[in-house]
Amino acid sequence: MNDNIGFGNINNTDFLFDNNESSTNLNNKVYSCLNCGVKVLTNNNISTCPICSGNMSSITDDIKAIDGYIPFTKNIDEVRKIYKKKVMFNPIVPFIFKKKSTIDSITPVYVSATLNDANISGNSLFLGGNKTAKNQKLSTISKTELSYTSNFDYKNVLINSCSKIDDNLFNSICNYSCNVEPYNDELLNNICILSDSSLDDVKNKLNKKIMNHALIIIRDNINYGLKKLSKNEMIITNNSCKNILVPIYLLNVNYNAKSYKFICNGENGNNNIKLPIGIVETIIFSILSFLIILLISFLFTKFF
Ligand SMILES: [Zn+2]
Repeated sequence: MNDNIGFGNINNTDFLFDNNESSTNLNNKVYSCLNCGVKVLTNNNISTCPICSGNMSSITDDIKAIDGYIPFTKNIDEVRKIYKKKVMFNPIVPFIFKKKSTIDSITPVYVSATLNDANISGNSLFLGGNKTAKNQKLSTISKTELSYTSNFDYKNVLINSCSKIDDNLFNSICNYSCNVEPYNDELLNNICILSDSSLDDVKNKLNKKIMNHALIIIRDNINYGLKKLSKNEMIITNNSCKNILVPIYLLNVNYNAKSYKFICNGENGNNNIKLPIGIVETIIFSILSFLIILLISFLFTKFF
């Protein structure tokens, strides 16, 4: 079995970025959040944390070299429209999510990630079987051993390398084209959220992501109702790993002592937010709905 699973396409996979100058004299441009500890690289003076809205202070720190970045193609007005569509017409979303000052604080940031090429290959053994009666117990199904030899190449798998951004949130919007441009100092006109994950952390996440994906592909090819993995000897080889920055729009809203994040892909507008239900807003909406129904039934009985 051989499958090339696209997580995006790249034409210039093999070029090496010249990032020697990127590691010089950047120390005076690093800030850290006094609340969540996120580290930011920027030429601008930054006082508010883009992750948690805490206070930022200037620090000295060693910076991992940045190999390249994916540029923004969505502008802030487009993203504000996307966000408004999500919240404005939803009557039970708390009002704070709809305030102009909230919408105005959507911030474009570059977020650290690693871009990886990897291969996974080797043998796996599954047990397959079908129920012969509706209520048959799994343990009594007769199973067939199914052996697979697989070889999957993965290109451009993005792994979040900033621990302050939730992996699930990141993975839900990370379908970038992966057209990576080499690092240049102009990037520092933006807020760049630095990596704080070790190489081991990143590799573990990568291995988990592609192992799960490979097993799903194999399972999909098994024509049995029961498909149980019994032995997995597949090995992952990480062929290349680059530190890059990806464009993201972030909004942090604090509501009822909880933090809610809107995250939007700065290249294609894919976005995600888990919205809370406002108690006051729900009560007002219920009363209004009740009054409207009452009014309609009153009019109905009076005129028809
Ligand atoms: Zn913070």
